[in-house]
Amino acid sequence: MNFSPKTKLTAVIGNPVSQSLSPLLHNTIYANEGIDAVMLAFGNPSVENLVTAIRTLPIHLAAVTMPHKQTIIPLLDEIDDEAKAIGAVNTVINREGKLTGYNTDIRGIADALQGVALKGSSVLLAGAGGAARTVAYLLQKEGAKIYCVNRDRGQAEDLTKAFGGTIIEEKDFGSISFDIIVNATPIGMKPNIDATPFGEEFIREGSAVFDLVYSPLETKLLKSAKAQNARAISGLTMFLAQGVEQERLWLEKKIDAARYQSVLEEGVRRRDG
Ligand code: NAP
Repeated sequence: MNFSPKTKLTAVIGNPVSQSLSPLLHNTIYANEGIDAVMLAFGNPSVENLVTAIRTLPIHLAAVTMPHKQTIIPLLDEIDDEAKAIGAVNTVINREGKLTGYNTDIRGIADALQGVALKGSSVLLAGAGGAARTVAYLLQKEGAKIYCVNRDRGQAEDLTKAFGGTIIEEKDFGSISFDIIVNATPIGMKPNIDATPFGEEFIREGSAVFDLVYSPLETKLLKSAKAQNARAISGLTMFLAQGVEQERLWLEKKIDAARYQSVLEEGVRRRDG
């Protein structure tokens, strides 16, 4: 990479960020598209300090990750309507000192579920955290029926209150034929690769299974989906689409996501050994 006095700084901010794949994705985009910019990772427990860095350095685009997706909201100058409705920001664009917060995870989820019929479909959603709430926002908007299962019932109640749907327990999974199954928990993530949120018996042929986890690239849940002739959708599709959307917001230029799929897959393999 050739840097110049004009090289623009972008960043992934969170705590921790040492495992983030965002620098790999964004720096590859800059190199391929001839953009004089560099993305660095800044881990800090203080979201206030990170926002001060965005304003002073300045950082032109910030990819926001856990645990700052909610707490960053009051520190920004403007929040996009969709990010406001979801209650989480994963992207900050600094336009001449004015910081605007967006949520591009929603675009990532919509891309991952492209071609899957959502209207009127029954969706089993595991999790009620930030990612699950973003999934639920899209499902409600598209008219799907949400069945949420979560370890902490209070969190599931908050989700269904905000986005509709029903709370379900594992013992009742068999009573509904699910068109779509979504895992928005870390269950099955490396190193716990033998764990799965749903047994194979709940996955029906022809349904769609979307696992937000992408480490390993093929989780136990996705293996089960394939074994049941269901459509297996990896969280890497979401990660790629949300990252490309961040660049579109900053550069105001459409970027072909497909060009970067293999770079990310290789990055996951290298990172996870
Ligand atoms: P979060 O806000 O911390 O929520 C975590 C959720 O998982 C909560 O519902 C939590 O349940 C549940 N959970 C955590 N550990 C669990 C366990 N051992 N057993 C059962 N449930 C458990 O995190 P998040 O941001 O929503 O992320 C959730 C998952 O999505 C993570 O694996 C993350 O890597 C993934 N993700 C992927 C992408 C992507 O681009 N593919 C983007 C964002 C997130 P409680 O409420 O009971 O604590």
